Amino acid sequence: MMTYKTAPVNFLLVDDLEENLLALEALLRRDGLVLLKARSGNEALELLLKHDIALALMDVQMPGMDGFELAELMRGTERTRAVPIIFLTAANDDRQRRFRGYEAGAVDFLCKPIDPDILRSKAQVFFDLYRQKQQLAAQRDDLKTSAEENARLLKESRQYADALKEADRRKDEFIATLAHELRNPLAPIRNGLEILRMTHDENMAVTVRDMMGRQMSHLVRLIDDLLDISRVSQGKIDLIREPIIVQDALRSAVEAAMPVIDQGNHVLTLDIPDAPLWINADLTRISQIATNLLNNASKYTPNGGKIKISLRKHNQEAVIAVSDNGLGIPPDMMPRIFDLFTQVNRNLDRAQGGLGIGLALVKRLIDMHEGSIRVESGGLNQGSVFTLHFPLTSAKSEELPAEPKTKTNTAPLKILIVDDNVPSAQTIGWMLELIGHQTVLAHSGTEAVETAKKENPDVIMLDIGLPGMNGYEVCRLLRQDPIFKNTVFIAQTGWGQERDRQEAQSAGFDQHLVKPVSLQDLSAVLANVEPKTAKAA
Ligand code: ADP
Repeated sequence: MMTYKTAPVNFLLVDDLEENLLALEALLRRDGLVLLKARSGNEALELLLKHDIALALMDVQMPGMDGFELAELMRGTERTRAVPIIFLTAANDDRQRRFRGYEAGAVDFLCKPIDPDILRSKAQVFFDLYRQKQQLAAQRDDLKTSAEENARLLKESRQYADALKEADRRKDEFIATLAHELRNPLAPIRNGLEILRMTHDENMAVTVRDMMGRQMSHLVRLIDDLLDISRVSQGKIDLIREPIIVQDALRSAVEAAMPVIDQGNHVLTLDIPDAPLWINADLTRISQIATNLLNNASKYTPNGGKIKISLRKHNQEAVIAVSDNGLGIPPDMMPRIFDLFTQVNRNLDRAQGGLGIGLALVKRLIDMHEGSIRVESGGLNQGSVFTLHFPLTSAKSEELPAEPKTKTNTAPLKILIVDDNVPSAQTIGWMLELIGHQTVLAHSGTEAVETAKKENPDVIMLDIGLPGMNGYEVCRLLRQDPIFKNTVFIAQTGWGQERDRQEAQSAGFDQHLVKPVSLQDLSAVLANVEPKTAKAA
């Protein structure tokens, strides 16, 4: 059962004689009861306005306003109309006068001299009545609150259901877009392969290969974004933050976006000061953010457009702006433009491509850097400006340039390539043989261990997700054998986070490369490896 905290109950005692008031007070005093005393009708009215009164005990005979007049006034006022009144009268009061009293609102009469027991028992009735009234009011308030709470919960669950429905619809739409976007670059790559198979024209082959390279980069970018957004959403991206020069990040972004900008025949203007601006950030991520915005500027601007990237210092912040004179963003899309899967004109021919995750990723990466991004556009075909702010930090103290350890070895190496994905292992093998190395392949952990012992290679490239025994286990096992003391172990994984690198390092790997490994990155690593035969000599 619910218990309610009760406020004290107020009784009003009205009598012009102080001794009568004191006598009443002495008779009625009890816990939970407050006795308010008035010596005249006017004083009583004042108290009635200030307090909720459970019972008024009123003398009839008073100078000035008598008890009946006071009662009549009380009946005429909303606030005091329902206050129960017991009149205290002289025993000789006639019926006529009593009748007037009842008319004025009395519930009872008590004759003087007052019998204490009768007074107390009547007072008790009104005390209890008032308490019950209080409890009823509290219960009514509780009921009202729980009815409101129920209505709120109902509304909330309807909103959740709607949000779920919307998320489901967006997921379906996203899967359709994803399939479409992945197929887009695949079609020209497949056509390119057919052409390469048939053509003997070297010029055409070069053009087709360039095209295939571009499509492949697009595909890799899509998948990178997709993996990144899922990792950011799960809080799995660790930033490697240190003081960096914003100009360095922008330079590499421009380099990365240049092929797309050139393809659109756009003119890119740089407005970047020479004086270095330092921010505490992950260089790769800042560059990724700027590349994304430049790619968008290029995608959403008709051929031959103007794109600009600028950098300035303002209020202890580095301010980067990427602008274009392209399609612009309609005002109604502005509030949602950084939401996942938001795309303007989704239903048009979608010639620009994309998954609608680029800006969401950009926004989240910027948030992780305590930066901000906002977009402005005059509307359709009025171009867009994306403005980014990052807090400046102090410059990194000059470090001594590290001893260059590049030896740029060109001698052929024996390389064991371990990957359960056979075509992947084979193509890496072919690429490495084309640049002069000797390769052996293995497609499982156990096969890797056997082949490594038999062939004693200079380099072992290990995929991590292998059936049976994973790449870390293979590396740990082989590292125990002294014949692999000088062997270079390279981990090849789909995960490029700092914690993955650390795990690879502690398993005994010398290098960690993220898939798909480009020939350029691989050659850079191999250039530092000396063949064992050379060392032995
Ligand atoms: P995607 O480009 O893959 O569609 P983004 O998240 O990068 O996804 O962008 C979301 C949407 O914002 C785009 O589909 C496009 O409609 C709009 N948008 C982004 N950048 C620009 C820009 N520079 N000019 C006009 N519209 C843009």
